[in-house]
Amino acid sequence: ATPTALLVGTGRGAQLGVLIKGPEILESTRRVDTVVLDKTGTVTAGAMALEQLVPASGVDADEALRYASAVEARSEHPVARAIAAAAGRHRADLQPADLQPADGYDPLQYEAGSATDRSRRPDGAAGAGAAGAGAEAAGAEAAGAGADGVTIGALQVFDFRSTPGGGVEAVVRAAHSGLGSTEADARGAAGINGLGSRRVVVGRTGWLDEAGVRVPDEVRTAVERAEDDGATAVVVAWDGTARAALVLRDPVKPTSATAVRELRDLGLEPVLLTGDAEGAARAAAREVEIDRVIARVLPQDKAAVISGLQSQGRTVAMVGDGVNDAAALATADLGLAMGTGTDVAIEASDITLVRGDLRAAATAVRLSRRTLRIIK
Ligand code: ADP
Ligand code: MG
Repeated sequence: ATPTALLVGTGRGAQLGVLIKGPEILESTRRVDTVVLDKTGTVTAGAMALEQLVPASGVDADEALRYASAVEARSEHPVARAIAAAAGRHRADLQPADLQPADGYDPLQYEAGSATDRSRRPDGAAGAGAAGAGAEAAGAEAAGAGADGVTIGALQVFDFRSTPGGGVEAVVRAAHSGLGSTEADARGAAGINGLGSRRVVVGRTGWLDEAGVRVPDEVRTAVERAEDDGATAVVVAWDGTARAALVLRDPVKPTSATAVRELRDLGLEPVLLTGDAEGAARAAAREVEIDRVIARVLPQDKAAVISGLQSQGRTVAMVGDGVNDAAALATADLGLAMGTGTDVAIEASDITLVRGDLRAAATAVRLSRRTLRIIK
């Protein structure tokens, strides 16, 4: 009778939008006592919107957005999508060939690697103003040095590099439209003032600091103020100096608070885990009534947070969307992937929540317990 009950359990799950990889997973689902929730894309919609752009004095806001979005159009991160969308740049507009290197990004492979040989930090190389070897070694979304330029709008983007948990960078210059066009024509068409090519960096201030990029007080203050207000803030820099703060907000999903309550009612302690700043993390946690928050965790350290909880005797479920958390999903006693997340997340997980509705996590736990009760 056992196999039949298990099949019924997993079959019923499919109807409820819960895909369970195999019957053996029901047992770990029964035992979990802690549920770690990734913030971006799991508790929140993962659909950030650019709320405000605060330029440093003397900087043209439109130009700052053009540079930032040209680079971010190559990244899949929710922060990147919001910035690109604000400037009307969409990944869908890029030629498939252009996207090849970026889509070769394998977060699982990256995150599973050792944190030391895949340096997560810009190397602080003088002159260039930003990352270099470090980001390249990280390999995430990287087009690789010297990759062909991609024309985004009237801007050409070369040498795109992405550092998970930090930001992105590339060399950007105005695309010459044809014979006889001058540098000035090209800049006019691209809506930028900069001569020649510029190394543009977009990311969080801590990462830029490590890279030796100068962050003027006015920009830093704008970032801190936005974070205190529960927003996510990144900066765009070129020529070694931060030029503007970009303030983004990612609303909590309408179903998240109910889901957290249901999980707690099932006896699981919810923990919010994020690479985002403390302020943004606390704001989201408050909305869904989670007390325990672990913020500013680098992508490659998320799995270690899970192991840490396990060594404290916890049996841990982790729910994530696979953007920088695939290794954590694989490390958890039970990995649950948002069906709206990446393929990597689904591969790394035991259970897929088809509709991306966090309440399905509670459904999965309830269903497993009920199914096992029937068998026993
Ligand atoms: P989360 O846990 O919220 O998914 P991540 O670890 O992916 O966060 O990212 C942490 C932080 O790194 C972001 O809040 C942002 O400040 C910065 N960051 C990551 N990717 C990018 C990007 N493509 N552009 C700019 N900033 C980024
Ligand atoms: Mg995430």
